Order: sequence, then structure tokens, then C-alpha cells
Amino acid sequence: MFTPAPERYDSMTYRRCGRSGLDLPAIALGLWQNFGEANPYEVQRDIVLRAVDLGITHIDLANNYGPPPGSAEKHFGRMLAEDLTDLRDELVISTKAGYEMWPGPYGDGGSRKYLLASLDQSLRRMGLDYVDIFYSHRFDPTTPLRETLGALKTAVDSGRALYAGISSYSAERTQEALAIADDIGLEIRVHQPSYSLLNRWVEEGEPSLLDVLGDAGIGSVVFSPLAQGMLTDKYLDGIPAGSRAARGGSLRQEFLNERTLTHVRALNEIATERGQTLAQMAIAWVLRDPRVTTALVGASSVAQLESSVGALENLDFSDDELDRIDRHAVD
Ligand code: NDP
Repeated sequence: MFTPAPERYDSMTYRRCGRSGLDLPAIALGLWQNFGEANPYEVQRDIVLRAVDLGITHIDLANNYGPPPGSAEKHFGRMLAEDLTDLRDELVISTKAGYEMWPGPYGDGGSRKYLLASLDQSLRRMGLDYVDIFYSHRFDPTTPLRETLGALKTAVDSGRALYAGISSYSAERTQEALAIADDIGLEIRVHQPSYSLLNRWVEEGEPSLLDVLGDAGIGSVVFSPLAQGMLTDKYLDGIPAGSRAARGGSLRQEFLNERTLTHVRALNEIATERGQTLAQMAIAWVLRDPRVTTALVGASSVAQLESSVGALENLDFSDDELDRIDRHAVD
């Protein structure tokens, strides 16, 4: 049985999630990869328990995290049962539905049928009565948005989720979702978009997604702030064995082209001058915008997680640093 560190809340920073009553840690841990069947359970457990000891109260999942889909929730459920039983009320646990999960017409998309069945499956896998946040994982153009949001409302009204969120919805779709949510009496309190030095879509457009979220008082939990590992020092001299890029899949090796690596090397130099690793600077950089509530990182080891949390030691940027970073922060 795990005994949490008494000092676990001493150094983490908590930021209010938009105009809600919910505080989230500036850095949260996601279990998208590294928490499935291919990784030793003991390593997964060590990472999650270390996160708890570091004051990371928010753990992010989705129905399909693994691989195989569902296994990350199953493993996390085991940790909840064996190690974290007494800490349930200290944790914000999120899950999502929106990508393909099971065969047939009801295991994918944004229908009420899929979302609510999937949420029930997630709760069973984790052994929970409720999750703190339930997200529509992506906008589904084939389902009326009112139906998707109605399913989120049912999730909240029935007590299976405390807060409703949307993920990867564009600025325009978010505005549309907020109008419908208002109409049906649903409060959307959090958005989960991708955002990093190499992926700045949330800043683009008039209004940008960040403008929409800031105006509406919606928090943002930004995912892949390390661009899946590209914004660390791990790929500067090639692709190490065991890394996400070496495994194939979501971090395709063609992303690591010479043009991007030239920028990454320049960013690495700026980070060194700041007395940070590149990973730490990349996390601090997304947190520089007050409309960003949380940087949602992944980790394949305790050391990576600890290093990422070290970002909080220097969150300030001079104008000169930001200008220099901007010259290299491109797709
Ligand atoms: P990151 O950008 O944080 O990438 C994590 C990877 O970077 C790790 O697996 C590791 O790679 C490497 N890494 C992490 N920390 C360090 C470090 N300090 N030094 C060196 N390398 C490091 O995020 P993810 O892409 O993993 O996404 C984070 C979370 O966001 C997911 O777990 C999920 O919860 C959420 N997410 C949500 C999505 C959505 O659609 N809503 C989509 C994608 C993610 P390696 O494994 O090679 O060691």
C-alpha cells in the first residue's frame, strides 16, 4: 500500500480552470502511451505514484489509451484499487470518448449511444463511480453537436462526471458548442487542445481558440507540450532505441526532419542559457499564457516526469527570449 508524501502539495502550482471552482496542477500527467500492455506495470505504477507525490492531482485518460485500447484505464484502475483508494478525493481523473473503440456502428464518433456506453465502460475499467471530467474527444461532423453535448449533459446530470469538456474542437466549433451548451443548460468548463512550440494552432485565427476560451472563461489543458518528445534533447543526435519515434506510430520519423531538428537545436541552446532543459522550457512556454491552465505531459520514466516538473522553477520569459523562441517555434 502506498503512503503519499506529506509534502506533496508544497511545491506544485495550481491554476484555476477558467471561471470554474476547480484548481488544476500546472503540470498534469496523461496516460495515452506507456501505460498499456507493452510497458511493465511496475514502471507505470512508479510514474503515477511519483506524480501524486509531486502534487500532480490531475491524471488524464481516454477510453482508447493503451495499447490495446482500454488497458491504460484498466491499469490505472488497479492502482486506484491497490494504492490510491484513500486518495480518490484528492484526484481529478478525466476520460474521453470520440475515437474508435469497439467494432460496429456504436463504437466511434459522437453519438449519445457511443458516448454514454463508453463512459460506463471506462468507469467499470477504473472501478470508479464517477470521473471528474468527461470529454467529447473530438468533434464528429456526422452527429448533430446538440446530441453529443446532450450526452455530456446526461453524464453530468446522472453523476457519472462532475465536469464536461471538449477536446480538439476548433475555435468555430467551440463557439458553436458553447451556444448549444448554453441552450441546453450544460456547462462546458474545460477544453483539451494540442499546443506546443511546434504546434501553435490555438493562437491562430480571429478569434483564436485561446481567445474564445479566455472570453468564455473556459480552462485549457494543453496536450503534447513536448511535441511527443521532439521538444526534448532526446532526438538531437538521432533516434534512440525504445523512444516513441523508434516504436513507430504516433510520432512519425518524418516529423524529425533536418529543418525541424535545426529549430529544435536552436531552442535547446536558448533553454540552456535559461538554465533549463529544452523539455522544461517547452512546458514553461505553454504556461506563459494565463489562458492555459495546465500542461498535460506524458512520461515513460519517473526521471522524465521529475525533470518535466522542474519546469516550474523558471516560468518567466524576457521579451528577448520570446522573440528568439518565436523565430524557431514553427511547424
Ligand atoms: P508530451 O508532448 O509530453 O510527450 C511525452 C513524451 O516525451 C514521453 O513519452 C517521452 O518520450 C518524452 N518525454 C517526456 N518527458 C521528457 C523529459 N523530461 N525529457 C525527455 N523526454 C521526455 O505528451 P504526449 O504526446 O505523451 O501527450 C500527453 C498527454 O496528452 C497524453 O498522455 C494524453 O493524456 C493527452 N493527449 C490527448 C489527446 C487528445 O486528443 N485529447 C491526444 C494526445 C495526447 P518517450 O516515450 O520516447 O520516452
